[in-house]
Amino acid sequence: MSNFFHTKIEYLKGIGPQRAELLQKELNMYTYGDLIQHYPFRYLDRTQFYRVAELDESMPYVQVRGRVRGKQLLGEGRKQRLAATLVDEAGDELELVWFKGVKWMEKSLKNHTDYIVFGKPTEFNGKFSMAHPELEELSEAKQTTAFLQPVYNTTEKLKAHRIDSKVISKYIETLLKIAAPNIQETLSPDLIDRYRLTDKRSALVNIHFPESVEKYNAAKFRLKFEELFYIQLRLLRQKVVRRADLAGQIFTQVPTVTEFYKNHMTFDLTGAQKRVIKEIHKDLTSGKQMNRLLQGDVGSGKTIVAFITMLIAADNGAQSVLMAPTEILAEQHYTGLKEFADRLGINIGKLTGSTKTKERRTIHEQLRSGEMKMIVGTHALLEDVVQFHNLGLCIVDEQHRFGVEQRSKLWRKNPRIIPHVLVMTATPIPRTLAMTLYGDLDVSVIDEMPAGRKEIVTVHRFDSHRLRVFQFVRDQIKLGRQVYIVYPLIEESEQMENYKDLMDGYESVKRAFPEYQVSMVHGKLKPQDKDYEMQRFVRNETQIMVATTVIEVGVNVPNASVMIIESAERFGLSQLHQLRGRVGRGAEQSYCILMTGYKLSKDSKTRLETMVRTNNGFEIADIDLKLRGPGDLMGTQQSGVLDLLISDLAKDAPILQEARAAAQTILQQDPQLEHAEHQNIRRHIQSLSANTVNWSRIS
Ligand code: ADP
Ligand code: MG
Repeated sequence: MSNFFHTKIEYLKGIGPQRAELLQKELNMYTYGDLIQHYPFRYLDRTQFYRVAELDESMPYVQVRGRVRGKQLLGEGRKQRLAATLVDEAGDELELVWFKGVKWMEKSLKNHTDYIVFGKPTEFNGKFSMAHPELEELSEAKQTTAFLQPVYNTTEKLKAHRIDSKVISKYIETLLKIAAPNIQETLSPDLIDRYRLTDKRSALVNIHFPESVEKYNAAKFRLKFEELFYIQLRLLRQKVVRRADLAGQIFTQVPTVTEFYKNHMTFDLTGAQKRVIKEIHKDLTSGKQMNRLLQGDVGSGKTIVAFITMLIAADNGAQSVLMAPTEILAEQHYTGLKEFADRLGINIGKLTGSTKTKERRTIHEQLRSGEMKMIVGTHALLEDVVQFHNLGLCIVDEQHRFGVEQRSKLWRKNPRIIPHVLVMTATPIPRTLAMTLYGDLDVSVIDEMPAGRKEIVTVHRFDSHRLRVFQFVRDQIKLGRQVYIVYPLIEESEQMENYKDLMDGYESVKRAFPEYQVSMVHGKLKPQDKDYEMQRFVRNETQIMVATTVIEVGVNVPNASVMIIESAERFGLSQLHQLRGRVGRGAEQSYCILMTGYKLSKDSKTRLETMVRTNNGFEIADIDLKLRGPGDLMGTQQSGVLDLLISDLAKDAPILQEARAAAQTILQQDPQLEHAEHQNIRRHIQSLSANTVNWSRIS
C-alpha cells in the first residue's frame, strides 16, 4: 500500500486524537491501512427477517423487525437492568434486556418506534428474549441501499464510547471515498488473469459494502487469495534464501547403518519409514542444511527413523542430540535408542534435570571430546556448559512444546556449521496448517502403521454403564493386561481442589479393584515420585494406572491394552487421540472407552463420534481444526503466525493450495522479482516490510 495508507487514523474526518487512541488500544488500529483492513466479521442480510413465532433456541443470531412498546428500568444499583418489549407484525412479543450501559440505552431507545433488532434468542417460560441486541431504527435502515450490511468487531470499551459497528462502518465509508485514487493493485496482471481475480479497489469496496452477492464473493476470494499468497511467498522466499546461505555437513558414509540393517534390525521397516529415511538421506548428502518436519501418528515408528538418522551422523564423525519435552519422554527415548546403540557398541548418554553432578561432568567431558556420539535429554541440554566436539544433528521431539528461542540455542552449539535439524511431532497437523506454519520446513510424513498392528477398538459408554465397564477391565486384567484410567484436569492450575475428581476416582478404583495394585500419576507429583509410579506400572507391579493427561505424551507400555477416559467430553479431539495412542502398542487387541454423562453438547457428540469412527490422526486433526479453529489447536505459542485478516485455514485449504502454487511458480521464474510483470508484487512486499518497522506505532 502506498504512503497514503500509512496515514494515522486520527486524521480521518470524524475520528480525531482521542478516538484514535482508543482504537489503537482496543483494536490495534493505527493507520488508514489498518482501518481499511478491518474487515466485517459478518453481514446483516437485510432480506432475512424472523417473526417471533418462528424463533427457536437453537438459532444462533436472528433479525426481528418490530415496534418498541414500553420500556422500564428494573432493580437497583449494580443489579439494575433495562427491559423493553418489541412487538412484531403478527403481534407477538419479544423481550429485550440490557444489563450494561443501562442508563444510556434507556435514554436512546425510542418508545413507539420501529426497530430492527439482532441477537441470540433465548426462551424462558415459553417467552423469548434477547440480551443486548444490536438495534437499528427502521427508518434509518431503509435508507441503506446495501442489502448486505457490514458488522464490525468492536469492544465493550469502544461501545461505551459510542464507537459501535455502525460508527466504524461510517469511518470506513469515509475512508473509502478518499482512498480510491490511492489504492494500488498488489497482484501481478498475470495472476489476476489466471485466477480471474477482481481488482484490488473493487475488492476493498465490496468486502465492506457489497454491491451484489457476486461482487461480494469475488471480493472475498480475491482478498483471501492475496493474503495467503503473500504468506506463502514470504515462507518460500525464506526457504530459498536459507537454501542458498546455509551450508550443511555432508554425510555420505554409511558403514554402520548398513551393518545395522543387515544384522541388528528385528523388524522390516514400513514403506513409509523407508521413504522418509530416503528423504532425510537426500538432505544429509546435499551440502545444504536439513530443516525437516517429521510427522507421524502415535506408534507409527518415528524412533527408529530418528535412530537411523543419528547413525548416519555418527558414521560421518558427527554427534547428535535428541531433545524431548519431559523427563519421562527423554527416559523412554533413551531406553529405546540405547537398545539399538548397544548392539552396535555406540556411546549414547542421557542428560536431564535429575542427572547427578558427577555423571553430568562425565557426560560434559565426553561430549566435548567427541567420545559420546549420541545424547538424549531435556532442556538440560540447552545449558551453556553443554558443548560438543562436532554437533551435526539436532532432533527435537514434540516440537510445539519448545519455543523457537530454545531451539535456536541448540543450533548454535556448533559454531562452525549449523547442525541438521529434524523436528518430530506425533500431533498430526493438517496439511493446510503445516503449509502455513512450517512453509519454510520440508515435511515428511509416516502415514502407515507397522504391519500386524491391530486397530484400537473405541467405544462410547455412559457413566451409568460403569459396572459393566469395570467388569470388562477385570476380564482384561485376568488376561494379563494393564489399564489406564484418565481424568481431565487443568494442569497449570495449582489448586488442589482441581484434583478432587482424580482423587475420588482413585479411591473408587481402589475400592472396585481390591485384588489389584493401582498407581496414580499427576502433575503435582515431584518428578522422582512420578517416575517411581510410572516405573511400577511399566514393570507390571501395578495393573491399573489412574492419571491425568501427564501420560499423554510418548509413554510406552506395550502391555497396557485398555484406555478409559473419564469425562471424555471435556477433552479436545486431538488430545483424546493422543491419549488413545498410549494403548495399541503391543500385539494384543486394545480398547479405548470414552466415558461421559448423558448431557452432551453438539460439538462433544461430534468429537466422540469421530473418535469411535476413525483411528486416522490426520482425519482427526482436520476435524479438530474445523471444530476449534487453528489458534486453539496449536496453543498460543504460534497463534501470532495465524493472525489472518480474512482467510480461515479450516475452510480455505483449496485457496491456500492455489496461492502456494502461484507463489512457487513466480519464484521459480523470477526469484528476485525483477521482471516487469512482478513489480506490483515487489512494491507490495516492500511496503509490507516497511510496515513492520512502522514508526507510527512507536510514538
Ligand atoms: P512413535 O512414532 O509413536 O514414536 P515408536 O517409534 O515408539 O512410535 O514405535 C512404536 C513401536 O512400534 C515400537 O515398539 C517400535 O519398536 C515398533 N516399530 C516401529 N517400526 C516398526 C516396524 N516397521 N515394524 C514393526 N514394529 C515397528
Ligand atoms: Mg515416540
